[in-house]
Amino acid sequence: MNLSNRISQISASPTLAMAAKARELKQAGLDVISMSLGEPDFPTPAHVKQAVKDAVDADLSHYGPVPGTPGLRAAAAKYMSNFVERQSGDEDTFVAEDIIVSVGAKQAICNAIETIVSKGDEVILPTPCWVSYTEMVKLAEGVPVMVRTTMDDDFLLTPEALESAITPRTKLLLLCSPNNPTGAIYSTERIAALSEVLLRHPNIAVIADEIYNQICYVGKCATWASQRELLDRLVVVNGVSKVFAMTGYRIGWLACKNKEFIKACTRLQGQQITCATMVAQYAAEKALEGDLTCVTDMTAAFQHRRDLIVSLAKDIPGLKVRCPKGAFYLFPDVTALFGKQAPADSNYAKARRSRWINSADELCEYLLTDGLVACVSGSAFGEPTCLRISYACSEQQITEAMLRIRKAIEQLS
Ligand code: PMP
Ligand code: GLU
Repeated sequence: MNLSNRISQISASPTLAMAAKARELKQAGLDVISMSLGEPDFPTPAHVKQAVKDAVDADLSHYGPVPGTPGLRAAAAKYMSNFVERQSGDEDTFVAEDIIVSVGAKQAICNAIETIVSKGDEVILPTPCWVSYTEMVKLAEGVPVMVRTTMDDDFLLTPEALESAITPRTKLLLLCSPNNPTGAIYSTERIAALSEVLLRHPNIAVIADEIYNQICYVGKCATWASQRELLDRLVVVNGVSKVFAMTGYRIGWLACKNKEFIKACTRLQGQQITCATMVAQYAAEKALEGDLTCVTDMTAAFQHRRDLIVSLAKDIPGLKVRCPKGAFYLFPDVTALFGKQAPADSNYAKARRSRWINSADELCEYLLTDGLVACVSGSAFGEPTCLRISYACSEQQITEAMLRIRKAIEQLS
């Protein structure tokens, strides 16, 4: 079969590939600690599980409206509006009609890109960025324009860098805060400064992926939705996967005040999926409407884990660590380890017939084969000097994993 050019240019998700590799090794009997996937290890809150059971019993098993059930759309609008109100005081930013519910935030982002980007349009992606953005842009036949941010600049896009990346072909700015993989968070002031640039370029839309917005360790987490003048060309993405430990339910959504966009995006979704799974939508609605103590409890646990992993990682020679402000990833610079050699009798050296470690990809492989810890190379996120370590796992696993990483690194010569 001859596959399409479009699909031939798309690479597999490196985060999912690494998770699958770790799973395989575990099944083969190896005691691998998987820190590759951004997936909370907590059980889904009890009241949400009960909601699914109720939905099954109520026979919520038929097709529903394309953009989502009225109940979930209203709950998502309220949840997001409450978030905006806490940050900026603005009330009722979103209403149910502004929301499209999809199969995870992943699909919401993909649909939004498809709806906005035409062939050859440029999409500005501040890197490091989540692995799927570039491939989604390519699927839409757009051109990803990577704008590198650095650890010294807190991994945040500057207004100057944004301005100089803009060309007459620029159609979209796509960014994420709190950020996967860096844990960086854009402040209200930085968002306002970037917005000022965008206001001079009225044809550029913005997708703000705020799926980690509740997982924030620095008080208030700013939102792009507080930029009133941008609202007509702003799409904000969110979902229940991370914050409510509901990754497998596959419910996410986008919010946008532009009616034309909502109509077009709904048309696309109607041809693609009809609607997201009805029982999962009901469960997500109950999650958003319910007591949010479970969210604050999980965030407090993530913060504890963040403190633990940062303190352990800072002690490991060769890792340059910056303290993440949100989400659940550590993204240390590992360039000090490039040019070192693995022990001659290591699994890494035997499998590759070379002992050299010259990149984050190679370090990642060495840590997996000889440290039995699965991480993801920074190159997957457009930053080949770093490594992503997900700390959405137990404190015991974090402690053991960092010990293994330390031992493996200490054996390099
Ligand atoms: N955006 C970012 C930044 C993510 O890390 C993820 C993780 N999967 C998603 C979107 C997609 O989430 P979902 O599980 O809702 O598809
Ligand atoms: N977003 C998570 C991660 O970055 C889940 C895997 C994925 O969808 O990429 O690990």
